[in-house]
Amino acid sequence: MREPIIAIIGRPNVGKSTLVNRIVGARKAIVDDLPGVTRDRAYYDAEWQDQHFTVVDTGGLVPREHEEFTSQINQQVDVALEEADVVILVVDGQAGVTALDEEIVKQIRPLKKPVLIAVNKIDNREQLGLVPEFYQLGLSSELIPISAMHGTVGVGDLLDKVMTAVQDLNNPEISMQPPETSAIRIAFVGRPNVGKSSLVNRLLGEERTIVSDIPGTTRDAIDSEVLWHDHDFVLVDTAGIRRKSKVSYGVELFSVDRAIRSLKRADVTVLVIEAIEGVTDQDKRIIETSNQYGKALIIVVNKWDLVEAKTPKSTKEFIKEIQHEAPHGRFAPIVFTSAKTGQRVEKVFELALKVYENNHRRIQTSVVNQVLLEAYTLSPPPPLKNKRFKIYYGTQVDVAPPTFLLFVNSDKLLKESYRRYLEHRLRENIDFEGSPVVLACRSKDEKDTKG
Ligand code: GDP
Ligand code: GDP
Repeated sequence: MREPIIAIIGRPNVGKSTLVNRIVGARKAIVDDLPGVTRDRAYYDAEWQDQHFTVVDTGGLVPREHEEFTSQINQQVDVALEEADVVILVVDGQAGVTALDEEIVKQIRPLKKPVLIAVNKIDNREQLGLVPEFYQLGLSSELIPISAMHGTVGVGDLLDKVMTAVQDLNNPEISMQPPETSAIRIAFVGRPNVGKSSLVNRLLGEERTIVSDIPGTTRDAIDSEVLWHDHDFVLVDTAGIRRKSKVSYGVELFSVDRAIRSLKRADVTVLVIEAIEGVTDQDKRIIETSNQYGKALIIVVNKWDLVEAKTPKSTKEFIKEIQHEAPHGRFAPIVFTSAKTGQRVEKVFELALKVYENNHRRIQTSVVNQVLLEAYTLSPPPPLKNKRFKIYYGTQVDVAPPTFLLFVNSDKLLKESYRRYLEHRLRENIDFEGSPVVLACRSKDEKDTKG
Protein backbone atom coordinates (compact mmCIF):
# COMPACT_ATOMS: atom_id res chain seq x y z
CA MET A 1 0.00 0.00 0.00
CA ARG A 2 1.29 3.44 -0.85
CA GLU A 3 1.84 6.04 1.80
CA PRO A 4 -1.07 8.34 2.44
CA ILE A 5 -0.81 11.76 0.85
CA ILE A 6 -1.76 14.82 2.84
CA ALA A 7 -2.36 18.04 0.94
CA ILE A 8 -1.91 21.36 2.69
CA ILE A 9 -3.98 24.05 1.10
CA GLY A 10 -5.13 27.56 1.94
CA ARG A 11 -4.92 31.09 0.69
CA PRO A 12 -1.52 32.84 0.62
CA ASN A 13 0.14 33.93 3.86
CA VAL A 14 -1.90 31.81 6.22
CA GLY A 15 1.23 29.86 7.10
CA LYS A 16 1.18 26.79 4.85
CA SER A 17 4.91 26.75 4.26
CA THR A 18 5.60 27.34 7.92
CA LEU A 19 3.36 24.39 8.76
CA VAL A 20 5.01 22.18 6.17
CA ASN A 21 8.40 23.03 7.64
CA ARG A 22 7.13 22.27 11.10
CA ILE A 23 5.84 18.87 9.97
CA VAL A 24 8.70 17.74 7.80
CA GLY A 25 11.51 19.36 9.79
CA ALA A 26 14.80 19.28 8.00
CA ARG A 27 13.71 16.83 5.36
CA LYS A 28 14.20 17.84 1.79
CA ALA A 29 11.55 18.08 -0.80
CA ILE A 30 11.48 14.99 -2.96
CA VAL A 31 10.12 16.85 -5.91
CA ASP A 32 13.07 16.16 -8.16
CA ASP A 33 13.08 12.46 -7.55
CA LEU A 34 9.60 11.88 -8.80
CA PRO A 35 9.02 11.55 -12.49
CA GLY A 36 6.16 13.49 -13.98
CA VAL A 37 5.47 15.78 -11.09
CA THR A 38 4.75 19.36 -11.86
CA ARG A 39 6.76 22.20 -10.46
CA ASP A 40 3.88 23.87 -8.72
CA ARG A 41 3.94 21.60 -5.74
CA ALA A 42 6.52 20.01 -3.50
CA TYR A 43 6.38 16.57 -1.98
CA TYR A 44 7.94 15.70 1.34
CA ASP A 45 8.39 12.54 3.27
CA ALA A 46 7.14 12.87 6.79
CA GLU A 47 6.54 10.76 9.83
CA TRP A 48 4.39 10.99 12.93
CA GLN A 49 4.18 8.36 15.64
CA ASP A 50 5.94 5.84 13.40
CA GLN A 51 3.56 6.38 10.54
CA HIS A 52 4.99 7.53 7.26
CA PHE A 53 3.14 9.84 4.95
CA THR A 54 3.73 12.28 2.13
CA VAL A 55 2.99 15.97 2.47
CA VAL A 56 2.14 18.00 -0.60
CA ASP A 57 2.85 21.66 -0.28
CA THR A 58 0.99 23.55 -2.92
CA GLY A 59 2.09 27.01 -1.95
CA GLY A 60 5.82 27.06 -1.88
CA LEU A 61 6.74 26.91 -5.52
CA VAL A 62 4.27 29.35 -6.94
CA PRO A 63 5.75 32.77 -7.57
CA ARG A 64 3.08 34.71 -5.78
CA GLU A 65 3.39 38.06 -7.42
CA HIS A 66 2.88 36.58 -10.89
CA GLU A 67 0.09 34.31 -10.02
CA GLU A 68 -3.48 35.23 -9.50
CA PHE A 69 -5.00 33.99 -6.29
CA THR A 70 -7.79 32.20 -8.03
CA SER A 71 -5.60 30.21 -10.35
CA GLN A 72 -3.43 29.28 -7.38
CA ILE A 73 -6.46 28.04 -5.61
CA ASN A 74 -7.61 26.10 -8.61
CA GLN A 75 -4.25 24.37 -8.66
CA GLN A 76 -4.51 23.54 -5.01
CA VAL A 77 -7.93 22.11 -5.46
CA ASP A 78 -6.67 20.08 -8.40
CA VAL A 79 -3.92 18.65 -6.25
CA ALA A 80 -6.35 17.80 -3.52
CA LEU A 81 -8.64 16.20 -6.04
CA GLU A 82 -6.00 14.23 -7.86
CA GLU A 83 -3.78 13.03 -5.14
CA ALA A 84 -4.61 13.71 -1.56
CA ASP A 85 -6.14 11.25 0.84
CA VAL A 86 -6.63 13.86 3.52
CA VAL A 87 -6.71 17.63 3.09
CA ILE A 88 -5.53 20.14 5.66
CA LEU A 89 -7.09 23.53 5.04
CA VAL A 90 -5.02 26.19 6.74
CA VAL A 91 -6.69 29.47 7.71
CA ASP A 92 -5.33 32.52 9.50
CA GLY A 93 -6.87 32.78 12.96
CA GLN A 94 -5.66 36.32 13.44
CA ALA A 95 -7.10 37.54 10.17
CA GLY A 96 -10.46 35.82 10.57
CA VAL A 97 -12.60 34.38 7.80
CA THR A 98 -11.98 35.89 4.38
CA ALA A 99 -13.85 35.64 1.12
CA LEU A 100 -10.98 33.63 -0.29
CA ASP A 101 -11.29 31.03 2.49
CA GLU A 102 -14.96 30.71 1.62
CA GLU A 103 -14.12 30.33 -2.04
CA ILE A 104 -11.70 27.50 -1.29
CA VAL A 105 -14.26 25.72 0.86
CA LYS A 106 -16.82 26.01 -1.89
CA GLN A 107 -14.44 24.31 -4.27
CA ILE A 108 -13.28 21.52 -2.02
CA ARG A 109 -16.67 20.64 -0.57
CA PRO A 110 -17.73 18.51 -3.54
CA LEU A 111 -14.51 16.49 -3.41
CA LYS A 112 -15.83 14.41 -0.54
CA LYS A 113 -12.42 14.01 1.02
CA PRO A 114 -11.74 14.31 4.69
CA VAL A 115 -10.83 17.92 5.42
CA LEU A 116 -9.25 19.14 8.62
CA ILE A 117 -9.29 22.86 9.29
CA ALA A 118 -6.12 24.12 10.94
CA VAL A 119 -6.69 27.56 12.41
CA ASN A 120 -3.15 28.91 12.40
CA LYS A 121 -1.44 31.78 14.21
CA ILE A 122 -3.08 30.89 17.49
CA ASP A 123 0.12 31.56 19.36
CA ASN A 124 -1.25 31.51 22.87
CA ARG A 125 -4.27 30.52 24.91
CA GLU A 126 -5.71 34.01 24.86
CA GLN A 127 -6.15 33.74 21.12
CA LEU A 128 -8.27 30.59 21.30
CA GLY A 129 -11.35 32.82 21.26
CA LEU A 130 -10.57 33.60 17.63
CA VAL A 131 -11.14 30.01 16.57
CA PRO A 132 -14.93 29.46 16.57
CA GLU A 133 -15.48 32.13 13.94
CA PHE A 134 -14.30 29.57 11.39
CA TYR A 135 -17.35 27.42 11.97
CA GLN A 136 -18.77 29.94 9.58
CA LEU A 137 -17.01 28.09 6.80
CA GLY A 138 -19.71 25.49 7.20
CA LEU A 139 -17.58 22.41 6.79
CA SER A 140 -18.53 19.88 9.38
CA SER A 141 -14.85 19.37 10.14
CA GLU A 142 -13.49 20.09 13.55
CA LEU A 143 -11.39 23.22 13.95
CA ILE A 144 -7.87 22.57 15.19
CA PRO A 145 -6.06 25.60 16.59
CA ILE A 146 -2.36 25.59 15.78
CA SER A 147 0.66 27.81 15.84
CA ALA A 148 2.83 26.68 12.98
CA MET A 149 5.47 29.21 13.82
CA HIS A 150 5.86 28.49 17.50
CA GLY A 151 4.70 24.91 17.43
CA THR A 152 3.46 25.32 20.96
CA VAL A 153 -0.14 24.85 20.13
CA GLY A 154 -1.86 22.11 18.28
CA VAL A 155 0.44 20.80 15.55
CA GLY A 156 0.68 17.44 17.34
CA ASP A 157 -3.09 17.35 17.75
CA LEU A 158 -3.46 18.14 14.09
CA LEU A 159 -1.19 15.26 13.10
CA ASP A 160 -3.03 12.90 15.46
CA LYS A 161 -6.24 13.79 13.71
CA VAL A 162 -4.65 13.36 10.30
CA MET A 163 -3.59 9.85 11.30
CA THR A 164 -7.06 9.03 12.54
CA ALA A 165 -8.54 10.26 9.27
CA VAL A 166 -6.09 8.07 7.36
CA GLN A 167 -7.00 5.03 9.43
CA ASP A 168 -10.69 5.71 8.89
CA LEU A 169 -10.07 5.73 5.15
CA ASN A 170 -8.68 2.23 5.37
CA ASN A 171 -11.57 1.06 7.47
CA PRO A 172 -14.41 0.09 5.16
CA GLU A 173 -16.93 0.35 7.97
CA ILE A 174 -16.38 4.06 8.35
CA SER A 175 -17.11 5.89 5.20
CA MET A 176 -16.40 9.58 5.40
CA GLN A 177 -19.44 10.52 3.39
CA PRO A 178 -22.66 8.64 2.91
CA PRO A 179 -23.06 7.58 -0.70
CA GLU A 180 -24.84 10.16 -2.81
CA THR A 181 -27.64 7.82 -3.77
CA SER A 182 -28.36 6.50 -0.32
CA ALA A 183 -31.99 5.84 0.39
CA ILE A 184 -34.04 7.92 2.78
CA ARG A 185 -34.80 5.78 5.81
CA ILE A 186 -38.21 6.19 7.36
CA ALA A 187 -38.99 4.67 10.76
CA PHE A 188 -42.63 3.98 11.53
CA VAL A 189 -43.16 4.26 15.25
CA GLY A 190 -46.13 4.51 17.55
CA ARG A 191 -48.32 2.47 19.84
CA PRO A 192 -49.39 -1.04 18.93
CA ASN A 193 -52.40 -1.37 16.65
CA VAL A 194 -52.39 2.17 15.33
CA GLY A 195 -51.74 0.74 11.87
CA LYS A 196 -47.98 0.98 11.35
CA SER A 197 -47.69 -2.35 9.56
CA SER A 198 -50.80 -1.69 7.54
CA LEU A 199 -49.35 1.64 6.39
CA VAL A 200 -46.01 0.09 5.53
CA ASN A 201 -47.73 -2.67 3.60
CA ARG A 202 -49.73 -0.10 1.67
CA LEU A 203 -46.59 1.82 0.83
CA LEU A 204 -44.82 -1.32 -0.27
CA GLY A 205 -47.71 -1.97 -2.58
CA GLU A 206 -48.24 -5.59 -1.68
CA GLU A 207 -49.06 -7.66 1.30
CA ARG A 208 -45.63 -8.29 2.73
CA THR A 209 -44.69 -11.54 4.30
CA ILE A 210 -43.02 -11.28 7.64
CA VAL A 211 -39.61 -12.79 7.31
CA SER A 212 -38.67 -13.11 10.89
CA ASP A 213 -41.63 -14.74 12.54
CA ILE A 214 -39.56 -16.47 15.14
CA PRO A 215 -40.40 -16.27 18.83
CA GLY A 216 -37.78 -14.57 20.91
CA THR A 217 -36.28 -12.89 17.94
CA THR A 218 -33.92 -10.10 18.83
CA ARG A 219 -34.43 -8.05 15.71
CA ASP A 220 -36.04 -4.71 16.36
CA ALA A 221 -37.53 -3.99 13.03
CA ILE A 222 -38.00 -5.11 9.49
CA ASP A 223 -36.43 -2.98 6.78
CA SER A 224 -37.95 -2.95 3.33
CA GLU A 225 -36.72 -1.08 0.31
CA VAL A 226 -39.07 0.61 -2.05
CA LEU A 227 -38.77 2.94 -5.02
CA TRP A 228 -41.22 5.83 -5.33
CA HIS A 229 -40.96 8.29 -8.22
CA ASP A 230 -37.27 7.50 -8.66
CA HIS A 231 -36.56 8.02 -4.98
CA ASP A 232 -35.20 5.21 -2.88
CA PHE A 233 -36.76 4.65 0.52
CA VAL A 234 -36.14 2.16 3.25
CA LEU A 235 -39.15 1.63 5.44
CA VAL A 236 -38.34 0.55 8.96
CA ASP A 237 -41.31 -1.14 10.58
CA THR A 238 -40.98 -1.73 14.29
CA ALA A 239 -44.23 -3.65 14.48
CA GLY A 240 -43.78 -6.50 12.06
CA ILE A 241 -41.62 -8.54 14.39
CA ARG A 242 -43.84 -9.02 17.37
CA ARG A 243 -46.67 -11.09 16.02
CA LYS A 244 -45.72 -14.16 18.00
CA SER A 245 -45.19 -12.38 21.29
CA LYS A 246 -48.61 -10.84 20.89
CA VAL A 247 -50.02 -14.29 21.12
CA SER A 248 -48.12 -15.23 24.24
CA TYR A 249 -48.57 -11.97 26.14
CA GLY A 250 -52.10 -11.36 25.09
CA VAL A 251 -51.57 -7.65 24.94
CA GLU A 252 -48.43 -6.55 23.25
CA LEU A 253 -46.05 -4.53 25.32
CA PHE A 254 -45.26 -1.21 23.81
CA SER A 255 -41.57 -0.75 23.67
CA VAL A 256 -40.48 2.86 23.49
CA ASP A 257 -36.91 1.61 23.58
CA ARG A 258 -37.44 -0.37 20.43
CA ALA A 259 -38.99 2.62 18.74
CA ILE A 260 -36.06 4.74 19.80
CA ARG A 261 -33.51 2.25 18.50
CA SER A 262 -35.16 2.18 15.12
CA LEU A 263 -35.56 5.89 14.77
CA LYS A 264 -31.90 6.31 15.61
CA ARG A 265 -31.13 4.42 12.41
CA ALA A 266 -33.54 6.46 10.32
CA ASP A 267 -33.58 9.87 8.67
CA VAL A 268 -37.27 10.50 9.09
CA THR A 269 -39.48 9.55 12.02
CA VAL A 270 -43.09 8.84 11.14
CA LEU A 271 -45.10 8.88 14.33
CA VAL A 272 -48.35 7.07 13.75
CA ILE A 273 -51.28 7.87 16.02
CA GLU A 274 -54.92 6.97 15.88
CA ALA A 275 -57.51 9.55 14.98
CA ILE A 276 -59.74 8.59 17.87
CA GLU A 277 -57.14 8.25 20.58
CA GLY A 278 -54.87 11.17 19.77
CA VAL A 279 -51.45 11.79 21.29
CA THR A 280 -50.41 9.68 24.29
CA ASP A 281 -47.54 10.20 26.73
CA GLN A 282 -45.54 7.56 24.93
CA ASP A 283 -45.99 9.45 21.68
CA LYS A 284 -44.67 12.57 23.34
CA ARG A 285 -41.57 10.70 24.47
CA ILE A 286 -41.00 9.50 20.95
CA ILE A 287 -41.28 13.05 19.60
CA GLU A 288 -38.81 14.35 22.15
CA THR A 289 -36.35 11.58 21.41
CA SER A 290 -36.69 12.06 17.69
CA ASN A 291 -35.87 15.74 18.20
CA GLN A 292 -32.91 14.91 20.38
CA TYR A 293 -31.47 12.83 17.58
CA GLY A 294 -32.15 15.64 15.15
CA LYS A 295 -34.41 13.54 12.94
CA ALA A 296 -37.06 14.90 10.64
CA LEU A 297 -40.60 14.23 11.85
CA ILE A 298 -44.00 13.56 10.32
CA ILE A 299 -47.15 12.84 12.30
CA VAL A 300 -49.59 10.46 10.66
CA VAL A 301 -53.12 10.34 12.01
CA ASN A 302 -54.32 6.95 10.82
CA LYS A 303 -57.73 5.24 10.78
CA TRP A 304 -59.21 8.43 9.47
CA ASP A 305 -61.93 6.31 7.90
CA LEU A 306 -63.30 5.67 11.37
CA VAL A 307 -63.89 9.34 12.02
CA GLU A 308 -67.45 10.24 11.20
CA ALA A 309 -68.64 13.58 9.94
CA LYS A 310 -65.27 14.73 8.60
CA THR A 311 -65.07 18.33 7.57
CA PRO A 312 -62.14 20.63 6.85
CA LYS A 313 -62.92 22.05 10.24
CA SER A 314 -62.46 18.71 11.94
CA THR A 315 -58.95 18.30 10.49
CA LYS A 316 -58.11 21.80 11.66
CA GLU A 317 -59.34 21.02 15.12
CA PHE A 318 -57.39 17.79 15.16
CA ILE A 319 -54.24 19.62 14.17
CA LYS A 320 -54.76 22.22 16.85
CA GLU A 321 -55.30 19.57 19.46
CA ILE A 322 -52.25 17.55 18.46
CA GLN A 323 -50.05 20.64 18.47
CA HIS A 324 -51.39 21.59 21.84
CA GLU A 325 -50.82 18.10 23.23
CA ALA A 326 -47.37 17.72 21.70
CA PRO A 327 -45.81 21.18 21.47
CA HIS A 328 -42.37 19.69 20.74
CA GLY A 329 -43.72 18.34 17.48
CA ARG A 330 -45.29 21.58 16.31
CA PHE A 331 -43.00 21.86 13.33
CA ALA A 332 -44.08 18.47 11.97
CA PRO A 333 -46.50 18.19 9.08
CA ILE A 334 -49.61 16.21 9.97
CA VAL A 335 -51.35 13.94 7.49
CA PHE A 336 -54.65 12.09 7.92
CA THR A 337 -54.60 8.63 6.42
CA SER A 338 -56.50 5.42 6.17
CA ALA A 339 -54.35 2.38 5.68
CA LYS A 340 -57.60 0.52 5.18
CA THR A 341 -58.75 2.47 2.13
CA GLY A 342 -55.35 3.82 1.10
CA GLN A 343 -56.50 7.39 1.46
CA ARG A 344 -53.56 9.83 1.42
CA VAL A 345 -51.11 7.08 2.34
CA GLU A 346 -48.75 8.00 -0.50
CA LYS A 347 -48.57 11.50 0.88
CA VAL A 348 -46.16 10.01 3.45
CA PHE A 349 -43.53 9.59 0.73
CA GLU A 350 -44.04 13.11 -0.50
CA LEU A 351 -43.73 14.55 3.00
CA ALA A 352 -40.75 12.35 3.84
CA LEU A 353 -38.86 13.77 0.88
CA LYS A 354 -39.76 17.26 1.88
CA VAL A 355 -38.85 17.03 5.56
CA TYR A 356 -35.64 15.18 4.68
CA GLU A 357 -34.68 18.05 2.43
CA ASN A 358 -35.54 20.62 5.09
CA ASN A 359 -33.55 18.65 7.64
CA HIS A 360 -30.51 18.87 5.34
CA ARG A 361 -31.01 22.46 4.30
CA ARG A 362 -27.98 24.74 4.33
CA ILE A 363 -28.42 28.47 4.63
CA GLN A 364 -25.86 31.04 3.58
CA THR A 365 -24.31 32.98 6.40
CA SER A 366 -25.47 36.25 4.87
CA VAL A 367 -29.09 35.09 4.90
CA VAL A 368 -28.81 33.80 8.48
CA ASN A 369 -27.55 37.18 9.60
CA GLN A 370 -30.20 39.06 7.68
CA VAL A 371 -32.90 37.09 9.49
CA LEU A 372 -31.21 37.46 12.87
CA LEU A 373 -30.70 41.18 12.44
CA GLU A 374 -34.29 41.67 11.40
CA ALA A 375 -35.56 39.59 14.30
CA TYR A 376 -33.38 41.44 16.75
CA THR A 377 -34.28 44.87 15.46
CA LEU A 378 -37.97 44.08 15.40
CA SER A 379 -37.97 42.85 18.94
CA PRO A 380 -34.79 43.17 20.98
CA PRO A 381 -34.67 41.11 24.16
CA PRO A 382 -35.46 42.92 27.38
CA PRO A 383 -32.36 43.57 29.50
CA LEU A 384 -31.56 41.16 32.30
CA LYS A 385 -30.04 42.86 35.33
CA ASN A 386 -29.13 45.87 33.21
CA LYS A 387 -27.37 43.75 30.64
CA ARG A 388 -28.83 43.05 27.26
CA PHE A 389 -28.28 39.90 25.23
CA LYS A 390 -26.42 40.78 22.04
CA ILE A 391 -25.82 38.78 18.89
CA TYR A 392 -22.71 39.63 16.90
CA TYR A 393 -23.45 37.24 14.12
CA GLY A 394 -24.64 33.73 13.44
CA THR A 395 -23.80 30.97 11.06
CA GLN A 396 -25.07 27.50 10.25
CA VAL A 397 -22.55 24.90 11.35
CA ASP A 398 -24.38 21.68 10.60
CA VAL A 399 -27.31 19.94 8.96
CA ALA A 400 -29.55 17.09 10.08
CA PRO A 401 -30.54 18.91 12.16
CA PRO A 402 -29.84 22.40 10.92
CA THR A 403 -27.65 23.84 13.67
CA PHE A 404 -26.89 27.50 14.06
CA LEU A 405 -24.08 28.90 16.10
CA LEU A 406 -24.64 32.41 17.38
CA PHE A 407 -21.75 34.49 18.57
CA VAL A 408 -23.13 36.48 21.44
CA ASN A 409 -21.95 38.68 24.27
CA SER A 410 -23.07 36.20 26.91
CA ASP A 411 -25.17 33.08 26.52
CA LYS A 412 -26.33 33.47 30.10
CA LEU A 413 -28.40 36.43 28.99
CA LEU A 414 -30.40 34.38 26.49
CA LYS A 415 -33.76 33.37 27.85
CA GLU A 416 -35.65 30.35 26.55
CA SER A 417 -38.51 32.54 25.37
CA TYR A 418 -36.15 34.62 23.25
CA ARG A 419 -34.45 31.52 21.87
CA ARG A 420 -37.87 30.28 20.79
CA TYR A 421 -38.62 33.65 19.24
CA LEU A 422 -35.42 33.50 17.19
CA GLU A 423 -36.19 29.96 16.08
CA HIS A 424 -39.67 31.08 15.11
CA ARG A 425 -38.28 33.91 12.99
CA LEU A 426 -35.87 31.53 11.27
CA ARG A 427 -38.73 29.18 10.49
CA GLU A 428 -40.84 32.03 9.16
CA ASN A 429 -38.17 32.94 6.69
CA ILE A 430 -36.75 29.55 5.83
CA ASP A 431 -38.58 26.30 5.20
CA PHE A 432 -37.63 23.99 8.06
CA GLU A 433 -41.00 22.28 8.24
CA GLY A 434 -40.65 18.83 9.73
CA SER A 435 -37.15 19.44 11.06
CA PRO A 436 -35.91 20.40 14.47
CA VAL A 437 -33.67 23.45 14.47
CA VAL A 438 -30.86 23.89 16.97
CA LEU A 439 -29.59 27.27 18.13
CA ALA A 440 -26.33 27.19 20.03
CA CYS A 441 -24.51 30.16 21.48
CA ARG A 442 -20.91 30.98 21.98
CA SER A 443 -20.03 33.81 24.30
CA LYS A 444 -17.46 36.19 22.99
CA ASP A 445 -17.59 38.82 25.71
CA GLU A 446 -14.24 39.54 27.33
CA LYS A 447 -12.21 38.06 24.53
CA ASP A 448 -13.82 40.10 21.85
CA THR A 449 -11.32 42.68 20.81
CA LYS A 450 -13.13 43.78 17.71
CA GLY A 451 -15.73 45.59 19.78
P1 GDP B 1 1.91 30.58 3.11
O1 GDP B 1 1.84 31.65 2.10
O2 GDP B 1 0.53 30.11 3.45
O3 GDP B 1 2.83 29.47 2.81
O4 GDP B 1 2.40 31.30 4.46
P2 GDP B 1 3.83 31.32 5.13
O5 GDP B 1 4.16 30.03 5.76
O6 GDP B 1 4.80 31.88 4.14
O7 GDP B 1 3.56 32.37 6.31
C1 GDP B 1 3.04 33.66 6.06
C2 GDP B 1 3.40 34.58 7.21
O8 GDP B 1 2.72 34.17 8.41
C3 GDP B 1 4.88 34.55 7.56
O9 GDP B 1 5.28 35.87 7.86
C4 GDP B 1 4.96 33.66 8.77
O10 GDP B 1 6.04 33.99 9.59
C5 GDP B 1 3.65 33.95 9.46
N1 GDP B 1 3.21 32.82 10.29
C6 GDP B 1 3.15 31.52 9.92
N2 GDP B 1 2.70 30.75 10.96
C7 GDP B 1 2.49 31.59 11.99
C8 GDP B 1 2.03 31.40 13.34
O11 GDP B 1 1.75 30.29 13.81
N3 GDP B 1 1.92 32.50 14.12
C9 GDP B 1 2.23 33.74 13.63
N4 GDP B 1 2.07 34.75 14.47
N5 GDP B 1 2.65 33.95 12.38
C10 GDP B 1 2.80 32.90 11.56
P1 GDP C 1 -49.53 -1.85 14.16
O1 GDP C 1 -49.54 -2.64 15.40
O2 GDP C 1 -49.35 -0.39 14.46
O3 GDP C 1 -48.56 -2.34 13.13
O4 GDP C 1 -50.99 -1.95 13.55
P2 GDP C 1 -51.53 -2.91 12.40
O5 GDP C 1 -51.08 -2.41 11.07
O6 GDP C 1 -51.23 -4.32 12.76
O7 GDP C 1 -53.07 -2.61 12.53
C1 GDP C 1 -53.82 -2.92 13.70
C2 GDP C 1 -55.26 -3.09 13.36
O8 GDP C 1 -55.84 -1.89 12.87
C3 GDP C 1 -55.49 -4.14 12.26
O9 GDP C 1 -56.63 -4.86 12.57
C4 GDP C 1 -55.69 -3.27 11.01
O10 GDP C 1 -56.51 -3.92 10.06
C5 GDP C 1 -56.41 -2.08 11.58
N1 GDP C 1 -56.13 -0.87 10.79
C6 GDP C 1 -54.92 -0.40 10.40
N2 GDP C 1 -55.07 0.75 9.71
C7 GDP C 1 -56.39 1.04 9.68
C8 GDP C 1 -57.17 2.11 9.11
O11 GDP C 1 -56.67 3.07 8.50
N3 GDP C 1 -58.52 2.05 9.32
C9 GDP C 1 -59.11 1.05 9.98
N4 GDP C 1 -60.44 1.07 10.10
N5 GDP C 1 -58.41 0.02 10.51
C10 GDP C 1 -57.07 0.01 10.37
